[in-house]
Amino acid sequence: MPVKLNKLAQLGEFGLIKHIQSQCKNLSSDVLVGIGDDAAVIVPQKNKTLITSDMMIEGVHFDLSFTTFHQLGYKFIAVNISDIFAMGGTPEHFIVGLGIPPNFKADNIKDLYSGIMKLAKKHKISLIGGDTCTSKNDLILSGTLLGSAKQVVTRSGAKAGDSIYVTAPLGDSAMGFSLLEKRGKKINKFHPSSTASKLMKTHLMPEPAPLQNTSKVTSMIDISDGLLIDVSHICDKSRVGAVIYKESVPLSNELKVMAKKSGMDPLNIALKGGEDYALLFTGPPNMKTSAFKIGEIINKGRYIIDSRGNKTEFKPEGYEHFKKINV
Ligand code: ADP
Ligand code: MG
Repeated sequence: MPVKLNKLAQLGEFGLIKHIQSQCKNLSSDVLVGIGDDAAVIVPQKNKTLITSDMMIEGVHFDLSFTTFHQLGYKFIAVNISDIFAMGGTPEHFIVGLGIPPNFKADNIKDLYSGIMKLAKKHKISLIGGDTCTSKNDLILSGTLLGSAKQVVTRSGAKAGDSIYVTAPLGDSAMGFSLLEKRGKKINKFHPSSTASKLMKTHLMPEPAPLQNTSKVTSMIDISDGLLIDVSHICDKSRVGAVIYKESVPLSNELKVMAKKSGMDPLNIALKGGEDYALLFTGPPNMKTSAFKIGEIINKGRYIIDSRGNKTEFKPEGYEHFKKINV
């Protein structure tokens, strides 16, 4: 039987770090010093270095009544990986800052790191350090991910005439969140044949994937706040407008089925739901790609157009901190 780790008070900060260190052993050869010294040491690369940081706060980004620590760790590194992919980069080195409430068990943190390391191993990311503090009430996670790219893709290169593409169906995560909220309890095993299970898994354990060939891509962003907000970010940065083709926004069958059951509009969820961690990019209309073409870049204005030609203006609605959610 695996040894149960008790209250953090018995283990202390340094005892906990020792446990973390033993879980994060797989280091790539460019890491000269990992966890255990005052700073990590990595050998510089010839490519460009990318650095991104993403926080997750209990009660804001996650609810421990329906997220296991393993799932939380997995998602925590996934959202950071997604930002590196959104720049056309490869993730390489991860640093984790933790604020842990005093009543947590060391086993909780062990499970958190098992989730982090699962995805870290898949993408060959080395966990090279972090910081550990007590927090008063809530669990706080702060991740910093370093990566590299020969050629970076920013939000600012979209031009009128480009097409807009997304790499995966949208809205599954938001629908999954809504189902989890209603259910209000944790899921330890997902049933591959269950429609609801698939949506909930997409929310709890997103799977960011890179775009293989970015040579023709003019701009890119990952969809974290919702399609309409993230298209708007591209428009703002590139100083252009956009048209979204209503019927071309990819929706999974699972989303359509469960939205109907819940009396919700699947398209609305896909446009505003967020946390998809799919990539949205622009490029020439004839680009060879397996991504879904959902619209085009124009000079000015932001519209959704249906197949009959009805055009409505859209606002950047979705999730924004300090504002109410309006899905
Ligand atoms: P210092 O007091 O010099 O800042 P710490 O005691 O905070 O050092 O950290 C000791 C080592 O453990 C460092 O290598 C640090 O990067 C690593 N570390 C601390 N907390 C974490 C964590 N939550 N995850 C991964 N590594 C950590
Ligand atoms: Mg020190």
